[in-house]
Amino acid sequence: RTLGGMDTSATPTHCPYCALQCGMNLTPVAGGGVVEVSERVDFPVNRGALCGKGRTAPALLSRAVRLTRPLVRRSGVLEPAGWDEALDRVAEGLSRTRSRYGPDACGVFGGGGLTNEKAYALGKFARVVLGTSQIDYNGRFCMSSAAAGGIKAFGLDRGLPFPLEDIPATGCVVLVGSNLAETMPPALRYLTELRENGGRLIVVDPRRTRTAEQADLHLAPRPGTDLALALGLLHLVVAEGRTDEAYIAERTSGWEAARAAAMAHWPEYVERITGVSVPQLREAVRMFCEPESAMVLTARGPEQHSKGTDTVGAWINLCLATGRPGRPRSGYGCLTGQGNGQGGREHGQKADQLPGYRKLDDPAARRHVAEVWGVDPDSLPGPGRSAYELLDAMGTDIRSLLLMASNPVVSAPRAAHVEERLRSLDFLAVADVVLSETAELADVVLPVTQWAEESGTTTNLEGRVLLRRRAVAPPEGVRSDLYVLHELADRLGVEKGFPTDPEEVFEELRRASAGGPADYSGITYRRLAEENGVFWPCPAEAPEAADAPAGPHPRATGPRATAPGTTGPQAEGPATTGPRAAGPGGGGAWDGAEPASDVLPEGSPERRAGPEDAGAGTAGVPSHPGTPRLFLDRFATPDGRARFVAVNHRPLAEEPDDEYPVLLTTGRVVAQYQSGAQTRRVDELNAAAPGPFVELHPRLAGRLGVAEGDPLAVVSRRGRAVAPARITASIRPDTVFMPFHWPGEGRANTLTNPALDPTSRMPEFKACAVRVERADPQ
Ligand code: SF4
Repeated sequence: RTLGGMDTSATPTHCPYCALQCGMNLTPVAGGGVVEVSERVDFPVNRGALCGKGRTAPALLSRAVRLTRPLVRRSGVLEPAGWDEALDRVAEGLSRTRSRYGPDACGVFGGGGLTNEKAYALGKFARVVLGTSQIDYNGRFCMSSAAAGGIKAFGLDRGLPFPLEDIPATGCVVLVGSNLAETMPPALRYLTELRENGGRLIVVDPRRTRTAEQADLHLAPRPGTDLALALGLLHLVVAEGRTDEAYIAERTSGWEAARAAAMAHWPEYVERITGVSVPQLREAVRMFCEPESAMVLTARGPEQHSKGTDTVGAWINLCLATGRPGRPRSGYGCLTGQGNGQGGREHGQKADQLPGYRKLDDPAARRHVAEVWGVDPDSLPGPGRSAYELLDAMGTDIRSLLLMASNPVVSAPRAAHVEERLRSLDFLAVADVVLSETAELADVVLPVTQWAEESGTTTNLEGRVLLRRRAVAPPEGVRSDLYVLHELADRLGVEKGFPTDPEEVFEELRRASAGGPADYSGITYRRLAEENGVFWPCPAEAPEAADAPAGPHPRATGPRATAPGTTGPQAEGPATTGPRAAGPGGGGAWDGAEPASDVLPEGSPERRAGPEDAGAGTAGVPSHPGTPRLFLDRFATPDGRARFVAVNHRPLAEEPDDEYPVLLTTGRVVAQYQSGAQTRRVDELNAAAPGPFVELHPRLAGRLGVAEGDPLAVVSRRGRAVAPARITASIRPDTVFMPFHWPGEGRANTLTNPALDPTSRMPEFKACAVRVERADPQ
């Protein structure tokens, strides 16, 4: 169909926001740059359903909310500029810092919203062009504890090691610290179907959320005690003789030490720590152990803590002791949050990772990736600082920062301090779609393309690699992040190796990931278009070439593949500030072709893909079907066994005291997304959720003499936030809740604690000690 010469046929693509990556169709309408959303029922994850954020996402494409010209700071004011001037300024800023202080004084900060191609190119840019070890991204604040816990136990981190469709078919789901009704509403149907099928739902959350209201059993522990709760449950599993001894003997190691640790956590002791009664603990154990299949799913509630890795380990222990992981419709999974939170951690923008989810300090991994990049492995820097440590070093060790797709002024812990650190930089460049609160502080702002204006891949919370297609032309004056990196590399002396065509970047990513834990080498744009996504690991070769399917591959419902054949397990451990291995990188002979356009043109393989192309590797050789389900035969550890971890309860980094007697926990509301930089610019979403609030129990409100809507000041050791009171009995009396989507005086992250998990380097977002009082009249 055409309208005034414009192609108006629907383009199937995916939502720009969360990790569910719902499928949607976009259709251009008259006026250019405007699209309509319609149902895309062929995508199995959401079957056409969208939340309000996805439904209104086209509003993000409006010129009214966008940056459409580069901005440079002149005499303290951001003013419009041409692309050449802006890029020159960025290259000069980074180059000056590198010459004066060395490459590690240049920082790079990425985001979990970047496509796989952009995350890959950004990591390569940092290490090859700048030669800096100082790169990390905002996903560190999201799922890093679950990733570290998964790697420790299973040797591999993929958010969900099974597709979402397994959820309704299991016997019991324990949902720990996830409010799906607000964060990804279309996923709620999996829980509804679970219960319709006779399965049981246990929700663990200090608040009686809309998700908790659907549960058969709601456990409301004190914030920060999920570790003790899991240990108490495991104690009862052992005491009641509900362990799966054959599974423990055949498929695990380390049980005795983990068992001993759990047995030290008596139910009565756990009740005192958590506030969850012993009868409730016993009921939870019964519901979890009686069915043949069961699973534990965690999210940010238990993970965003200075003991997040151990907490995840304790929940995995519970699963292992009862013989769940690697069994049908069973196991442990993490519900990743950001749109490309999964892919964003696999391709090299994380401080300690190389593409393919390889470890940066693994000599074999360095050799493999360096060969793809055409550089000397010794020229690659070592691991750098984690996200908060990097932000905290700005203005001291880090003098210049290139930031893409992140808004730490709102989303980082101890945010006022982070804002101050950003202001102290010698030079800050931000590439973003909108003028975020962080972009407002920049010396140069680069306006970039977004989801519907460009093609690229993301990897959703199931490990399903997806193709986002270009549906509409970007506004004049806007360029892609890949173009930015290409131009900056060129200005900094690296003329090749940074193509602007996403498919060309993906082809290199495939080679760089080959043989790694997250192996994408068998995935092509053509396959993604035809198969509606492919689960990694997907090596280039089929497992058994003679038996492999040659046609379109089975999707989530297809035959199960076995454990991934990786070339070495992932190692756990913190990002370190270790020394760089060698010199500044840069230069080198590149294999890549000359840059092409930054979007897929009509007639590209992605658009041409037809059944005859699908599922076939080169020369018609059958390709790997992808791996919807992991660990069925063995885990990705050297001996193939899952590892128990011996962990013990420990208190919060900051317990309440006389001065700060209440706990603050933070979270999300359905109409806003992360730092709100995008969703606060969408009228319908703003009307639904116009600002922050403080949720508190009627008893606490009574003690404070506070009525609904009264302005409340919440004060922690790091600052003060003000927002109206919202009084509800759905929260514990010892806890208040604030959503974190807003800047200014209601910024919840002004209050949060940057105490870090020793392994994952996750800050303690989810609990800190505060004082609550009526706000002074302004
Ligand atoms: Fe789906 Fe998440 Fe987008 Fe909502 S925000 S439509 S749940 S992908």
